[in-house]
Amino acid sequence: MSAGKVVKPGTGELSAGRGERSSPDWGGIVAALKAWRKKRGEEDPSVTTVAERYRKDPWAVLVSTILSLRTKDEVTLKTSHALLAKAPNPASALALTEQQAAALAYPAGFYKTKAANIRKIASIIIEKYGGRVPSDMDALLELPGVGRKTANLVLIEAYDKYGICVDIHVHRISNRTGWLSSKTPEETEMILRNILPKKFWKAINPLLVLYGQNVCRPLSPFCSRCVIKKHCAGTGVEKTR
Ligand code: SF4
Repeated sequence: MSAGKVVKPGTGELSAGRGERSSPDWGGIVAALKAWRKKRGEEDPSVTTVAERYRKDPWAVLVSTILSLRTKDEVTLKTSHALLAKAPNPASALALTEQQAAALAYPAGFYKTKAANIRKIASIIIEKYGGRVPSDMDALLELPGVGRKTANLVLIEAYDKYGICVDIHVHRISNRTGWLSSKTPEETEMILRNILPKKFWKAINPLLVLYGQNVCRPLSPFCSRCVIKKHCAGTGVEKTR
């Protein structure tokens, strides 16, 4: 399905739209998700919390983002604070042994690999970038263990640059709702870069991640209490609550 099809308000069904191509009502979608989040009193995602606590220090944001992959928010926060207390910059990370770094990263998922990557990254940053985390996408993507999601998050949170961080929740919801049709998170990111107004780029990730964890769940989403139902085509959704 193309991104231009129209969602029939309130029904979740797609209509032909009389030949017109209409983009999703992004303003309405973001406003509804923000109101939902405010009502729940939800906190910011862990990486955003770390970015604020460490005053957008790029090293802290990078370390925390790496630790956050496949890891619960509370564990990301705990391990980020533990590791950054001992390794507040690349040089101090490199001074840790591999075992020490792994112990500080525990119990984040894949903590040994993440700790090893953080040390390798520290070494590259010192040798190649004078100790400062690079601020462009291509350079970030060359670092071990850094994919587009991590690189986007570092650019957004540490450098206030434009980026769209697409994880499994953003990818799933964007396809289910019919806002776009894509096979991979990378493809979703590229399409969103074309169809989503820039002013919503930063907001879309934390809103959809939280929504995906609580309402638009992978299996059997809670459509009966969905605040963006009128913007959703329900593509591929078979069982709902
Ligand atoms: S919860 Fe249901 S209605 Fe809401 S976005 Fe997800 S699939 Fe669509």
